[in-house]
Amino acid sequence: MKILIKGANVLRPDYSTDIADIAVENDKIAAVGNIPESFVADHIIEGKDHFAVPGLVNAHTHASMTLLRSYADDMELMDWLNNKIWPLEAKMKEQDIRIGAQLALVEMIRTGTTAFADMYGPWMEIVADETIGAGIRGILSRGAIGFMPGAMKTLEENVELFRNYHGSGDGRISVLLGVHAPYTCPPDFCQAAAKASVENGINVHIHMSETQAEIKEIQEKYGKRPFKYIEDTGLFQRPSIAAHCVWLDDEDLAIMKEHQVTPVHNPGSNMKLASGVAPVPWLLTHGVQVALGTDGASSNNNLDMLEEVRLAAMLHKVKELDPLAVDAAQALRMGTEYGAKALWLDNVGKIEVGAKADIVLYDMRRPEWCPRHNLVSLLVYSANSSSADTMLCNGRIIMEKGELKTMDEEKILFEANKCALDLVNR
Ligand SMILES: [Zn+2]
Repeated sequence: MKILIKGANVLRPDYSTDIADIAVENDKIAAVGNIPESFVADHIIEGKDHFAVPGLVNAHTHASMTLLRSYADDMELMDWLNNKIWPLEAKMKEQDIRIGAQLALVEMIRTGTTAFADMYGPWMEIVADETIGAGIRGILSRGAIGFMPGAMKTLEENVELFRNYHGSGDGRISVLLGVHAPYTCPPDFCQAAAKASVENGINVHIHMSETQAEIKEIQEKYGKRPFKYIEDTGLFQRPSIAAHCVWLDDEDLAIMKEHQVTPVHNPGSNMKLASGVAPVPWLLTHGVQVALGTDGASSNNNLDMLEEVRLAAMLHKVKELDPLAVDAAQALRMGTEYGAKALWLDNVGKIEVGAKADIVLYDMRRPEWCPRHNLVSLLVYSANSSSADTMLCNGRIIMEKGELKTMDEEKILFEANKCALDLVNR
């Protein structure tokens, strides 16, 4: 399939913008600008008055948890988990996982996300199948809570998921080993997870150093901070992504660098759960390419990555009392290129020849896009994600002029409402 995006404003890898055509052939960008005459498009997308940007990468979420959106808000993390979230999750059935994932996929597509890292389950193979059908990229893991009964079985399910799905969906699906967090995973479990990750060559997805309470609890229990604790269990032998990383010190940073642990910043979730402000400018200064995530829709409460990009650009300014702390371009790179790198996605996150064709077009014929002095600034500080109207992932049209091409949105919203009500009344 050959697709030509005509006359869009294109965000180039150096963050300059110009009006150019983009030629897409199969899964890749074949040309930007001078399109060879030999390129004959099967389909043309009118790009006039649109801003073409790499698809957003949500490097940490819990997709099926969208069913719990607005179920329990304004609570402390442990109260929220122990008394609201975990009891309800224990009642989830296969159908809840399926419909929750469908709802998440619809929302992610609508808001310009072409790749997401998910930690959830059981039945992650359903999430994999739904993601394959939806046409975007899923970096999936079965989140294991080490102190829960059956945790070892969960680990086996994750390895099984890796064997069956890693590299599937034309390479759009990859699988990580999901280890929930230091405060939910005791040493013997972490050691078993470390063994599974090394033996099978599976990279790791974990929550790290989210709250001050977590740091205190791990220090009291094990006499060390969470990063040192996890390092000593052997779990960082494989490269990892670590959600949150709010409370860090120099030793934590050294461990992250030594073991290729990429932090995933979740500003919306950290603000809502009052976890704190991650030291993102400090990490960036030390050469750490921080990724961005929404976290689950019950702690955010949406999967809108453009909102996270904006929060990342805003939050650190006020925390540091420095309007230069994280600029618009840096925040957008965190939500695209750095996220792709964090998730080991090759040739993703930039619009350039040879890159995967993961492209979002934002419709600029709206008041918040006027006047157009600086398109990156408009996208990050002014635009609403609802102006994303066309999306390609892996060279396939997923949404065009506001119409979803791979999912039945109306049916999914209807079923998700019904399914969520049934779940809370179960
Ligand atoms: Zn999370």
